[in-house]
Amino acid sequence: MAQEYDLVILGGGTGGYVAAIRASQAGLKTALVEKGNLGGTCLHKGCIPSKALLRSAEVFATAKKSEEFGVITKDVSVNFAKVQERKSKIVDQLHKGVQHLMKQGKIDVYEGLGRILGPSIFSPTAGTISVELNSGEENEMLIPKNVIIATGSRPRTLPGLEIGGNVMTSDEALSMEEIPKSIIIVGGGVIGIEWASMLSDFGADVTVLEFADRIIPTEDKDISKEMQRLMKKRGVNIVTNAKVLPETLAQGEGVTISAEVKGKQKEFKAEKILVSVGRQANTEGIGLENTDIQVEKGHIVVNENLQTKESHIYAIGDVIGGLQLAHVASHEGIHAVEHISNENPSPIDYDLVSKCIYSSPEAASVGITEDQAKEQGHKVKIGKFSFRAIGKALVFGESDGFVKIVADEETDDILGVHMIGPHVTDMISEAGLAKVLDATPWEIGHTIHPHPTLSEAIGEAALAVDGKAIHG
Ligand SMILES: Cc1cc2nc3c(=O)[nH]c(=O)nc-3n(C[C@H](O)[C@H](O)[C@H](O)COP(=O)(O)OP(=O)(O)OC[C@H]3O[C@@H](n4cnc5c(N)ncnc54)[C@H](O)[C@@H]3O)c2cc1C
Repeated sequence: MAQEYDLVILGGGTGGYVAAIRASQAGLKTALVEKGNLGGTCLHKGCIPSKALLRSAEVFATAKKSEEFGVITKDVSVNFAKVQERKSKIVDQLHKGVQHLMKQGKIDVYEGLGRILGPSIFSPTAGTISVELNSGEENEMLIPKNVIIATGSRPRTLPGLEIGGNVMTSDEALSMEEIPKSIIIVGGGVIGIEWASMLSDFGADVTVLEFADRIIPTEDKDISKEMQRLMKKRGVNIVTNAKVLPETLAQGEGVTISAEVKGKQKEFKAEKILVSVGRQANTEGIGLENTDIQVEKGHIVVNENLQTKESHIYAIGDVIGGLQLAHVASHEGIHAVEHISNENPSPIDYDLVSKCIYSSPEAASVGITEDQAKEQGHKVKIGKFSFRAIGKALVFGESDGFVKIVADEETDDILGVHMIGPHVTDMISEAGLAKVLDATPWEIGHTIHPHPTLSEAIGEAALAVDGKAIHG
């Protein structure tokens, strides 16, 4: 059967389903094609399940040190089956929510694998979508005026470090039935560090092998350094400058693998290995060869309005690379739909995107790092304020970390805000808004932050930019 639409979206992850809702609000007749579960990676294999596990780990870690708070608990232990059950319940609830939103928006959802066809009897231009339905019924043909490709990404692996046995990626790790006694995490990026934090809180012996000279290498150097210090303090073994040698992998009861560390070969042993070396865009098997769409370095190439070489076919989210984050994917989805609806959206400023790490301690940032600012020729001034001088942090029992603001000495522009410490992922939006509004450190400093709150650290760091912090 052939159906006509204003817009067909390929992939119902965060990018795709948010685009569908915005399209329905704009009055576009919209279809969404999803081969797996609505909500995609973020809801089923990413943000939400990982944060549910992190929260259980945090509760366990807090319960173990409850005596510090004068609360006596005995024999605290983890029932990991319950931890997983809680995670699944949260995912199910949100999954139902997305399904409801699709119904509410009168969005036609096709459950199956979508592929883009070239010019055909259905349309003189590429873009008709053939859907191989999961139900096994006859293929559907969707004839859209516009298409959004939002097929997302999957975990990347290292050649020779194939998944199976005791080797896993975050996909497999999320459904582990037991907490491993020990684990080697290959890759100290955001996902690797979140797993290191969680598994260490659950009691596993964790080793992180990172190729670069520091963990979370895309963050400001001071944040990496503090994260490394605090992870080590909690017993996580962090090895930087480590080139993992996949050919040395041996599996038996557990696993052993070697890495070249500063010119010397070292062997590491553990029960499991988690490979966390980035994500690979899903560009294969979706019919790109039937179009003029370009793929470079594994990602679909788009212009500032997220249009591919076929101007009526857009691409958003992880499949176009860049910042592979859920809120970026959804924002891009909204942008693409607004462009299709001739609403003239302003180009997305990726410099304004907040990035968060939900480990313990948390880290969050917006804008550029101190090093990037210097490389770009800025004369910088820095304001830094420690959580140690923040009453609420002491009340929480979590006073490690700081807020760092990088500003331009000549223009007073805020170039970047970098935070590590308690609940900073919930606090970064103040800095995000300040950047959107082009606020100066003076304006943040003169925003009256309520006392006692963790957010006082942002106000103080802003005052510290000009040497005027009160408690520092
Ligand atoms: C462990 C982990 C933790 C993460 N934590 C965070 C976090 O805390 N915060 C954050 O912002 N981001 C996080 N991310 C990243 C986030 O999940 C992604 O950036 C986000 O899901 C990208 O959304 P998307 O719509 O581009 O793609 P996806 O969510 O990957 O969705 C793509 C969808 O397309 C479907 N699909 C693919 N091909 C086809 C086809 N041919 N036909 C039909 N359907 C198809 C897939 O089944 C999938 O459902 C995390 C990722 C991981 C792995």
